[in-house]
Amino acid sequence: MTVRTRIAPSPTGDPHVGTAYVALFNLCFARQHGGQFILRIEDTDQARSTDESERDILNALRWLGLEWDEGPDVGGPYGPYRQSERKNDYRAYAEELVEKGHAFYCFRTPEELEQIREERKAHGLNPGIKGDLELPADEVKRRLEAGEAHVIRMKVPDEGVCVIDDMLRGKVEIDWQQVDCQILLKSDGMPTYHLANVVDDHLMGITHVLRGEEWINSAPKHQLLYKYFGWDMPVLCHLPLLRNPDKSKLSKRKNPTSINFYERMGFVPEAVLNYLGRMGWSMPDGREKFTLQEMIDNFDIQRVSLGGPVFDVEKLRWLNGLWLREDLDDQAFIERLQQWWFNRESLEALVPHIRGRAEVFSDVAPMVSFMFSGMLNLKPEDFSHNKLEEGDVKRVLQFALWTLEAERHWTKDNIFADVKGLAKAMGLKMGDFMFPIFVAIAGTPNSWSVMDSMALLGPDMTRSRLRHALQVLGGFSKKETKRVEKEYAALVAE
Ligand code: GLU
Repeated sequence: MTVRTRIAPSPTGDPHVGTAYVALFNLCFARQHGGQFILRIEDTDQARSTDESERDILNALRWLGLEWDEGPDVGGPYGPYRQSERKNDYRAYAEELVEKGHAFYCFRTPEELEQIREERKAHGLNPGIKGDLELPADEVKRRLEAGEAHVIRMKVPDEGVCVIDDMLRGKVEIDWQQVDCQILLKSDGMPTYHLANVVDDHLMGITHVLRGEEWINSAPKHQLLYKYFGWDMPVLCHLPLLRNPDKSKLSKRKNPTSINFYERMGFVPEAVLNYLGRMGWSMPDGREKFTLQEMIDNFDIQRVSLGGPVFDVEKLRWLNGLWLREDLDDQAFIERLQQWWFNRESLEALVPHIRGRAEVFSDVAPMVSFMFSGMLNLKPEDFSHNKLEEGDVKRVLQFALWTLEAERHWTKDNIFADVKGLAKAMGLKMGDFMFPIFVAIAGTPNSWSVMDSMALLGPDMTRSRLRHALQVLGGFSKKETKRVEKEYAALVAE
């Protein structure tokens, strides 16, 4: 049997370090067995998927040095590798299950479903949608002929225990009670993740599914779908979730999670990949620094330990330092530095903003140094302002951070609209509102356009600087956080 593994990212955001981590382990597993590693884009959620996100994910994985054998950009015998391009094929699979009696048409409105959920809750049952949804065959026929909106749901047992085999965890038991009658085909005819994922893994000959632990609760549904279709199921392996240093699930609210941030910070891809290889895994001889090839040569999935691996940026910095010192000679260092930001392209992006402000070339470096920096060296006094109290400054920074965390299309115009809308909602003059933002992003209120700076710095670097500024000002206590969260929610609701 040829081993075939895959990653199946959904292009709905920044290229996440978690995606790269899962990709790395899939690649190593496939290579260790002389098999293939496939990249499939799961973009059935058309409202949230963007081309820009897909492009960024592919670029980020390539930057890290991960290569796939088949994928939307390189092709392969099992294409297309983008689910939106396969969308017309899924309905027949859902209907096949209806015919076999494993799935049914469901015409319930959201209000009816809500009522069922409430009733189940009242009876102490899991509120997941179960039973009583199916209608008699003649009524289904009548409603279908009348063209009524419907979905297709899979049937799931009401009770008993589902046993999942996991390469790392052994047998995992999940109560069927916890599993809802999953929608397979939505009312717009698009498949849900569950249907598309199972159908494609089958059609693409995937033999091993290595994915994040957060998907383990989907495994019973998938196992059941394989059984309903009569297909062999790939071997499952759920990798431990990456964690923030405080052990919570890695999240961009606490840590930069986008690969783009690490590139922008000036980490080298070898070090980032090396660090991801140490998330729950270690070399047999315990060495901390290793290349992708060395990892592949020594790979053994059973060496993954399940204790939540902590993604600690400080440790990554240390490891990156080793790579810079030990693996780059002066020439290579210069080349990498040029590739990074000391290149013509970055100057081209900066010059339009600074030309009009410089009298001599030596004015330039101080004006742009913050664009080549990581976290700025700020002091609380830098934020003192004659109209804003410290509390206002912190609220501006915090609210701007929350607003920009929600921005999905990182362009100057969108950033500007976000910030302007927020200033208005807070009842602050744009000039006053922008003061703390300037200091947080550029280190001084007298910089060139901070909107352009934020656009060029990218979402993660911008957010990290806002977060850092808040820390410099002492942040909010738990109690204050509750209060400002409420205040923000009220502002946004207006
Ligand atoms: N599309 C899913 C994701 O975004 C893939 C999960 C899986 O690997 O099954 O992570």
